[in-house]
Amino acid sequence: MAKKGKQANEIITLQCESCKNRNYTSMKNVRQHPERMELKKYCKFERKHTVHKETKR
Ligand SMILES: [Zn+2]
Repeated sequence: MAKKGKQANEIITLQCESCKNRNYTSMKNVRQHPERMELKKYCKFERKHTVHKETKR
């Protein structure tokens, strides 16, 4: 079995900016996106779309 070497993909958690709930986990390529991601996602706690920011676990 070959070793995969350095992993470019990382599991990230997306946290709602307004209620601070962690609603999503996702994979991202840290080589392509070294900066923190910000996405508009549906927050089930507030029942609307809000900005979700990446947090490290
Ligand atoms: Zn929210």
